[in-house]
This record gives sequence, structure tokens and C-alpha cells, in this order.
Amino acid sequence: MASSITLEKIVKRFGAFPVVHGIDLQIEPGEFTVFVGPSGCGKSTLLRMIAGLEEISEGELRIDGERVNETAASKRGIAMVFQSYALYPHMSVYKNLAFGLETAGYKKPEIEVRVKKAADILQINPLLQRKPKALSGGQRQRVAIGRAIVREPKIFLFDEPLSNLDAELRVQMRVEIAKLHQTLGSTMIYVTHDQVEAMTMADKIVVLREGRIMQVGRPLDLYNHPANQFVAGFIGSPKMNFLATKLVTSDASRRTIEIAGQQIVLDRPLEAQDGEALTLGIRPEHIQAQMQSATLGQGNIQLVEHLGGSTVLYTNTADGQPVTVLLEGQKQLRMGETVPLSFDLANAHVFGTDGRRV
Ligand code: ATP
Repeated sequence: MASSITLEKIVKRFGAFPVVHGIDLQIEPGEFTVFVGPSGCGKSTLLRMIAGLEEISEGELRIDGERVNETAASKRGIAMVFQSYALYPHMSVYKNLAFGLETAGYKKPEIEVRVKKAADILQINPLLQRKPKALSGGQRQRVAIGRAIVREPKIFLFDEPLSNLDAELRVQMRVEIAKLHQTLGSTMIYVTHDQVEAMTMADKIVVLREGRIMQVGRPLDLYNHPANQFVAGFIGSPKMNFLATKLVTSDASRRTIEIAGQQIVLDRPLEAQDGEALTLGIRPEHIQAQMQSATLGQGNIQLVEHLGGSTVLYTNTADGQPVTVLLEGQKQLRMGETVPLSFDLANAHVFGTDGRRV
């Protein structure tokens, strides 16, 4: 069973200080939504308001169409998984999983069925008699997720659940949580500051900055059509290159911009004035280290990263602007060499000085 969640003009103030500024958002039943943004953007606060752990200052929160602003956390049909696991150290894994059900008044046979089901899904059967201190970080996080599963909630909330795990385990748990979502089909909201987690796990990404939504969309829509420079720079690794440019001339169908002393003609209109300073955004994989149509001139190689399947060049243009280039395969290029840099016009993004897409 899965629920829809509706946020309407949700505001959060701590004292007089607003940290969430009127969020509107619709989450469909069964959707895996990721709230992502830099530290302090308000993503945990938003999640905690949905969970019922934080009061909503203004606006309305609805679950399956029903207002729940005043509904106690325990009555919202929600289970939350925290970064800190929050396991009871003196109880066995079995007891950790069973405890919430016992206090909620479930009978022993029902508890056994639910614990077994959760343990099967998470493959933690062999660990049921251990205490948390005898578990690895990944196993503890699985138990924490198990505690949410046994409650059979309509909504799962995850607050940076993988932050305490090492890189390899994070990748593994990412896959497991995605599989869990497929198995259970529940509505899930996942908070992270890691855009890779957002890109790999989400049906829908909500990018937040300073308590406001910057963009909502499917991962590849955000990647291919970022609504502003913030989203463009936040989503994608290596990061999108931003080059200072200006609009030289414009007519109805063509725009000429100047960059690194070169004039480049874009065959689409821009919402900008002649002479206006602009930023050109180009992803590292859309830059070629060979001459093609649009050019950035010669790039001076500052550093080469050989990743095996790909090569990353950190270069500077003639006018000193850094440009990262992601090339497929292995390249015999070295620091100090120069390479001609060109890019696909079709994949160039243009932003105004205020970050809006033009
Ligand atoms: P992080 O990734 O660092 O956890 P976040 O995006 O989850 O960041 P929040 O924890 O939601 O951000 O915090 C948003 C803002 O609200 C921050 O400026 C924070 O200092 C402030 N804040 C959070 N909790 C409180 C509180 N209880 N009292 C006052 N201010 C708070």
C-alpha cells in the first residue's frame, strides 16, 4: 500500500527565523523522491515536518488527500530511518525489530511473521540473535531499515541513511534500498546531500537551496535541462563547466556570444540584451579535445586523471578560465601540453548573471 503526499505552501520558522519558504510539492503513491541540496538547505527540516517530528509553521500537509498537520507522528503511517541507526544497544537484532510491534500491542505470532519477512527481505536472518555492537555499519543500517519494514508503513522516510558507511558499502546499500523500493512499492522520501545518490535512486529529485525548491524532475531531465545555474552546477560529476561570456549581437533567430576571444553563433534565441554578461555552461563530456565547430581555443592541460575507462583533463583556456574535459577511453596526454577545445553547441546551456536560464 502506498500513499500520496501533498505539501502546500509549507513554511518553517525557528523562532522568527524562516528556514523553509513556502514549499509546494506533490508526491505520487509509490514514488521514490529524493530531497537533495547543500548543508543547511532545509531538507531534513522538511522531512521531519512530514514525519511529524517538527511542527509546520504555515501551510498544509496532506497524506492521501487528508490534512495531517496536527496528526501525531505515530498515526501518520510513516516509518523513518535515521543516519545514526538509533538501535537499542542492549537488545538483540530480533528484539530491536520486534520491540516497536510489542509496544504497539501486536501478538507474538504476528510479530514473528513480520520480523521473519523483514529479515528475509534484508537477508539478516543469521544476525537475529546478535547485539548491535557485534554488527558492521552496513548490517546495523540494515537492521534500522528492518525496524521500519516490520511496521508495514505506507511511507518510508530516510534521512541521510548511508552517510556513516564507507564508499563501497554506500554503493551496495544504495542498490539494496532501490530494490527494497521495487519489492515493497511504498512511497519513499530520501534525504541526501549527495547528488550521485539522488541521480541513481530517485524517480523524482527535488533540489533545494536555502529553503526553496530550485527544480523538481526526473534525474535525466534535471541533468539535461537544468532550470538554473545552481541545479546545473549541483547535478553531475565532474561538474558542469561555467565560462564567462557575453552576448555580442542578436537578431530574431541567431545570437553571437564571445568567449575566450572567439565569437560563437548560437542558432537559438536568448532572453538577454546585447552586451549582457552571461555564463556558458558545458558538461565535461560535451567538450572535445579536437577541433570541431564551436571552439574554446587552446586549452592548457593542468592535470590529467587516468580513470581507465575514461580520462579527465583539467585545462585552462587562453584567458585563464578552467575547463574540465571528460574523454572516453585512455589518452596519452600530459600536464603542460595544449589541446584544442571544442564543444557541441546543442548541449551548451546559457545563464544570466542571476543564474536564470536564458
Ligand atoms: P544538513 O545536510 O547539514 O543536515 P539540511 O539541509 O538537512 O542540512 P536542516 O537541518 O533542515 O538542513 O536545517 C535548515 C536550517 O534550519 C539550517 O540553517 C539550520 O541551522 C536551521 N535549523 C535546523 N534545526 C533548527 C532548530 N531546532 N533551531 C533553529 N534552527 C534550526
